[in-house]
Amino acid sequence: MYLNNSKQVVIKIGSSLLIDDKKNIRKKWLIEFAKDIELLTKNKKKVIIVSSGAIALGCKKLNINKKNLKLDKSQAVASIGQIELMNLFNEIFKKRKLNLSQILLTLEDTEIRRRAINAKRTFENLFDLGFIPLVNENDSIATSEIKYGDNDRLASRVAQISGSDCLILFSDVDGLFDSNPKLNKDANLISNVKEIDKKIENYISKSVSEHGTGGMKTKIEAAKICQISGCYMAIANGLKFRPIKNIISHNYCTWFLPKISKLDARKKWIISSISPKGDLIVDDGAILALKKGKSLLAAGIKNIQGKFKKGDHVKILDKNMKEYARGLSSFNSEEILRIKGQHSSKISEILGYVSKSEVIHKDDMVEI
Ligand code: GLU
Repeated sequence: MYLNNSKQVVIKIGSSLLIDDKKNIRKKWLIEFAKDIELLTKNKKKVIIVSSGAIALGCKKLNINKKNLKLDKSQAVASIGQIELMNLFNEIFKKRKLNLSQILLTLEDTEIRRRAINAKRTFENLFDLGFIPLVNENDSIATSEIKYGDNDRLASRVAQISGSDCLILFSDVDGLFDSNPKLNKDANLISNVKEIDKKIENYISKSVSEHGTGGMKTKIEAAKICQISGCYMAIANGLKFRPIKNIISHNYCTWFLPKISKLDARKKWIISSISPKGDLIVDDGAILALKKGKSLLAAGIKNIQGKFKKGDHVKILDKNMKEYARGLSSFNSEEILRIKGQHSSKISEILGYVSKSEVIHKDDMVEI
């Protein structure tokens, strides 16, 4: 089974597992969950936990409702709740001699390559020290434009940058079904997904929605990142006690199988960016050149959308606005507006300074 064979596992748990509908903390569940984590570490697996719940626990402490919370207020609430979250985990995990550390990430920590590599080193050092990193989004700092917003995609990026080979997304749904199990008693759980094709997309639109922030949509986006990264990913119900042991014994969940990819770690990171900053719309000639493995030149760019800086992730779209590739731009958006459609030899003259001749170098680009 995929989990048994993995060496480094990321386990994501949603808020609804930690706090029930009546706002009670599910302490008994967490005590059992700690046994699950112990089982993994005893089997020599490295474990990263991604846990939601900062905002929910902050609301509980303040006795306020999560609904209608304004962003700035929720940032303060998350700051109050995050310490509650860590205390809760720590109190229970230390009884099983499981050492926890805290990592709070903002979007840029995975989207800027240098910071992603830095985060990877921190994970490695924590494993060497015998600690289990407990990750959440740094909700107190992140504002809407620079926010993951859901821990599903955050967990998949964490799995990717840390080089993990298995991610389990525990929430309050059993997995992906071929129709809505709440409405249709004959609905079947899909056990394995190799390709996220039209059929699967169709199942997603009919799927049951869960209580958390993400729902099935963000879980599928997480799965796409895992597939590219060579990481197995499961969507599973975590509500019952010992959810990890349940997967090991019954395997009742949906597994997304990784694709065999020849891309190196850097290119995997480029293609799975979750926050491209702009679009470059290019002509047929440019698409043809890219297909031959060439870099993207200014001459082939017809239009641009968005504002971005040099080094930012951008999408390359064909004239029908279909995404063809992704890459890191060597110029900012204002510069591209001035040089688009021009021959590379004119760039220095137009900009008034010497710069690169490619807008996106082939080494910084990955086809979709
Ligand atoms: N980071 C948020 C929290 O801890 C949760 C995001 C999510 O539910 O996915 O409250």
